[in-house]
Amino acid sequence: MFRKILIANRGEIALRVIRAAREMGVESVAVHSTADTDAMHVRMADESVCIGPPAGTDSYLSMSAILSACEITGAEAIHPGYGFLSENAAFVQAVEDHGIKFIGPSAEHIRMMGDKITAKETAKRLGIPCVPGSEGGVADLAAARQIGEDFGYPVIVKATAGGGGRGMKLAKSAAEIDTAFGSARSEAKAAFGNDEVYIEKYLGRPRHIEVQVFGDGKGNAVHLGERDCSLQRRHQKVFEEAPGPAIDAATRSEIGMICANAVAELGYEGAGTIEFLYEDGEFYFIEMNTRLQVEHPVTEAIMGVDLVREQIRVAAGLPMSFRQEDLQVNGHAIEVRINAEKLPNFAPCPGTISQYHAPGGLGVRMDSALYDGYRIPPYYDSLIAKLIVHGRDRPEALARLNRALGELIVDGIDTTVPLFSELLQANAVQTGDYTIHWLEGWLEKNLG
Ligand code: ADP
Repeated sequence: MFRKILIANRGEIALRVIRAAREMGVESVAVHSTADTDAMHVRMADESVCIGPPAGTDSYLSMSAILSACEITGAEAIHPGYGFLSENAAFVQAVEDHGIKFIGPSAEHIRMMGDKITAKETAKRLGIPCVPGSEGGVADLAAARQIGEDFGYPVIVKATAGGGGRGMKLAKSAAEIDTAFGSARSEAKAAFGNDEVYIEKYLGRPRHIEVQVFGDGKGNAVHLGERDCSLQRRHQKVFEEAPGPAIDAATRSEIGMICANAVAELGYEGAGTIEFLYEDGEFYFIEMNTRLQVEHPVTEAIMGVDLVREQIRVAAGLPMSFRQEDLQVNGHAIEVRINAEKLPNFAPCPGTISQYHAPGGLGVRMDSALYDGYRIPPYYDSLIAKLIVHGRDRPEALARLNRALGELIVDGIDTTVPLFSELLQANAVQTGDYTIHWLEGWLEKNLG
């Protein structure tokens, strides 16, 4: 086992990794920008190194600064968290070239899944069902129009290098394909420096279902069931649950085994998520994320495993501590993402926390780096906390979430907490009967 690892991240996910490391007797090194000197992850780690000025590009995204911090502290491995450098194949390569272990998959697997066209081709080859669409990239407008004709409208134009819902445009009919194609390309160029796009059939009322997989890098892999992340705003998840309300045990096992076998065949190492749209009983692959997801705690809750501990174990060359038959769904878990944002427009709202009180009690988990008097810097993502509840079944989890939200105090800034208290009253949320488009409509009606 490693003696010391470095966490190339900040906020709640840095804390999450420090906690797992400490329980394993592994020392942790925090890195931070000058804006995060007083951050919780710096206080909680065994050691810390300042790696640069506030801007992410000069600190948390600076490969050389992070590698230097490893050298200085003697850290043997790097956990990337999510976001920042977590899916950057060049970073993984640089880490390994320095004789440091990257806690996660190989550069090759990250590259394979980071390019969405290659990812889709790989998925198809491995027997994973995909959304019908163009074979590879779409070179020009004429080709885009042809695909619209062939597959029938509506279609969605998506960036090959996409992520975070950017570079994605809907064309409802032939009249809209020119604009959709053009603006997806320019948005992709601006966001990712790569204007290649591909086209998929647009699914009108799917759910977003994702399968958690885990591999040991030696050809063994398992699935840990699915999460339903259909409640989205602007293609961003806001409320996630496991198991999926629309997925029964036989369906879970079938799609789960397809995914587990696929990552086993790849020789994939560590945690990964295979994302699908799910409509009329059919799964359609959209992408694979080669890292720990924000919403991993709902899976941990129902499966009774520590995914970060497991990541560190397999990175150190140890076997996985569970087999497929050990993994059974126990109860129901829900996560809500609490952002420092002002409703109704979700405008980022950094500031100083005058009072913070985290909810507690049976089945309540709060993953957050907040504390009384903490000043949220304006430079980073607005996610400030994840509230995760676990109950024996879905109604109990919903009641527990409502109770926990009532106990939570985050004063001094605006947050998305009031949104969740209201959302819980909605019939679709109570019954679990929603698609990826439902939340946008509800927000329009209720926050207008
Ligand atoms: P990103 O990597 O930018 O998040 P994804 O491919 O994962 O992009 O898609 C994000 C979200 O966009 C999905 O969860 C879904 O809401 C929507 N989406 C993507 N592809 C389609 C499609 N073919 N039909 C309908 N909605 C889609």
